[in-house]
Amino acid sequence: MTPPTVLSANRSPLPLGELVGRGGEGDVWAVRGDDGLVAKLYTGGKAPDRESKVKAMLDAALSEGSRFVAYPTALVLDPGGRFAGFLMRRIAKAKPLYQLYKPIARKRHFPAADFRFLVHVALNVAKAMASVHEAGCVIGDVNESGVLITEKGVVALIDADSFQVEHGGRRFACEVGKPEYTAPEIQNRPLKDVIRTQDHDTFALAVVIFQLLWMGRHPFSGTYKEGDMQLERAISEHRFAYSSLDSRDMSPPPSVPALDFLPKEMGSAFEQSFSATGRAGRPSAAVWVNLLTGLQKQLRPCGRDPIHHFPAIAGPCPWCRMRDELGIELFVPPPLAVGEAPSTANWTDAFDLLAVWRTIDRVTPPPPATKPTMATQDSGPSVGAKAAKNARVQRKLVGLVSLAAAAAIIYVAAMIWPAWAAVAWFGFAQLLGHGDERSFTGGFQKADQAWAQALGQWRSTRGPARFDALKAELAEARSQYEALATEERQRLAVDEGTRRAAQLRAWLEQFQIRRTHFKGIGAGKIATLASYGIETAAEVGSTRLLRVPGFGPINSQPLLEWRRRLEGRFRYDPKPNAADVQRAAFIRADITAKAGKLRNQLEAGPTRLAKLAADVVAEQQVPSPELAALWRTRTQAEADLVHLGRAVPAATQIPQIGSSTQPIFPRPIGIPRPHQFGQKATTTSTTSASAIAKSTPTSASLQCPSCGSSMVRRTARRGPNAGNAFWGCSRYPGCRGTRRI
Ligand SMILES: [Zn+2]
Ligand SMILES: [Zn+2]
Repeated sequence: MTPPTVLSANRSPLPLGELVGRGGEGDVWAVRGDDGLVAKLYTGGKAPDRESKVKAMLDAALSEGSRFVAYPTALVLDPGGRFAGFLMRRIAKAKPLYQLYKPIARKRHFPAADFRFLVHVALNVAKAMASVHEAGCVIGDVNESGVLITEKGVVALIDADSFQVEHGGRRFACEVGKPEYTAPEIQNRPLKDVIRTQDHDTFALAVVIFQLLWMGRHPFSGTYKEGDMQLERAISEHRFAYSSLDSRDMSPPPSVPALDFLPKEMGSAFEQSFSATGRAGRPSAAVWVNLLTGLQKQLRPCGRDPIHHFPAIAGPCPWCRMRDELGIELFVPPPLAVGEAPSTANWTDAFDLLAVWRTIDRVTPPPPATKPTMATQDSGPSVGAKAAKNARVQRKLVGLVSLAAAAAIIYVAAMIWPAWAAVAWFGFAQLLGHGDERSFTGGFQKADQAWAQALGQWRSTRGPARFDALKAELAEARSQYEALATEERQRLAVDEGTRRAAQLRAWLEQFQIRRTHFKGIGAGKIATLASYGIETAAEVGSTRLLRVPGFGPINSQPLLEWRRRLEGRFRYDPKPNAADVQRAAFIRADITAKAGKLRNQLEAGPTRLAKLAADVVAEQQVPSPELAALWRTRTQAEADLVHLGRAVPAATQIPQIGSSTQPIFPRPIGIPRPHQFGQKATTTSTTSASAIAKSTPTSASLQCPSCGSSMVRRTARRGPNAGNAFWGCSRYPGCRGTRRI
């Protein structure tokens, strides 16, 4: 298309380039030789109407310092020197708002946009409006085409020449507006005669923010109690479908987040903006700037799908729920960065699992803990024991003297027998009595029991249990590694199966319901469908249609037939496209990452095991302070008994606590499937066999449960188990400890 000939303000020729946009009032052209500018030229005889307004805007120098608005910067004249239009800043590589807030369009035009990006853009739209209001203007005609968004989320308002501007005592009206963004108090009124206010603008701002945060849903689009509800009527009757205060017989469409998924103050701001009382004063653009800045700080990634972000207050992820219930992917996973691309080398290369496992298997486990090396002490009898022994000598002396006295009485006066009998009885009692010496035996038994209990505890923590646990962990890593090949194959197969469905969906998403004419489906019904997330052929299905109020088996037929026709035209392309290749690469990258982690874990295994075994052996030599103290008490009690010449009772059985004396061995490891490891299968079975052989305890590693000595294999000769083999203590008959085989 040939550009018209125009002049710049100083009447020199202004060469124009390609047509970059076309609207109801005029065309927008590139300026040759200046990438930063475009020229808007009025068409259809609109120029004379706009001349004074554009001149007033230039006179007010609105463009100076404006980051967010493409205000007129200079006049453009026709060859005759008459007003033809104006120059304004070019917003490069930007797309209109409506390509961002609806998920389907967003996936095509802003594939990298996640919820954080949407909040960021909403914030910038609020900032842009705040800047217009600060300049004393009113936007008036806020709509989804007049807001441009760059890839980075920078926002620019175009159509500045339709703003309501006051300058030099004159008001230049904004004569247009889209019903979806028009405040209730001026719905259905001829906008030419309406003085627009900032409050009208902030109603539209709240709608735009809502659409960005609610995946393109309009705040007044919901389910009406009885039949269809036109959007314009819903707005003028304040039927905010998400209101928790007064939704006027409207309820929100299914599966979308409720108002309280946002922080409370944001919910209140929406209520205030959309309710009847809101007319008294809606939250200003500056208030929204604060609210959205606060929201940005509360966003968290989803645990199930890291592409999802949502406010921490929302509870479970609202986007997972929407996706699961509506079957729509809301966000696109980020493309692989170049550096992340997995190498073509197979992840199984250059790693010999079996060799690594053999090294792991060769590490000698620590022996079960027996008894730590206890400090020998030769303390001799305690003060109490010495006193008891002295008391005994005194007692014997008194006894002998008493008996001698009794003998003397018999000799002198045998007749008074009660006297000598009493003295003799006293003498025998002294001679044969034990005083309090029995308490020493009791004391020893107590000390011995405490010691045995503590030793049992100590063994349970110093045995090979930790070694066994680490080895079991490595065995688990090995079986996980072995399962990776199957997981990779299965995931790739599933992905290929869904490829056809994904292609069909992408094909159907191109066909929009509102661009197609259906008999008996007017604007109201189309709005209702949209509020249920049905906007393209991809979402048309009988189950979903029948859930929409006003749709029954009969009037949903045209839509269903339309979809069937489109499906018939679809051709599956089995050749993987860029997205398919990327998904497959994702799966491989994921498997490779898992394999790498397991490999590192297994390769570090032998060193970790050997170090742990050495640590355990070292710990087995050292008693704990508690154990040492109990040992001293017990040794003292034994020394006291020896000093007193009393029998030392048999040692208490050491209790078995935990599993220290019954080593757990790693669970048996499956033999890898032959196709995975090919010729190595033979070595595998040998490895497994040796692992099993090890799990049968030998007599050397077994300990007597009573005294901790080694055990030998014996056969019972008598009793109910006669003929059966068992482990017997090597100190038999001194110790009768046994174990089952
Ligand atoms: Zn999620
Ligand atoms: Zn024994």
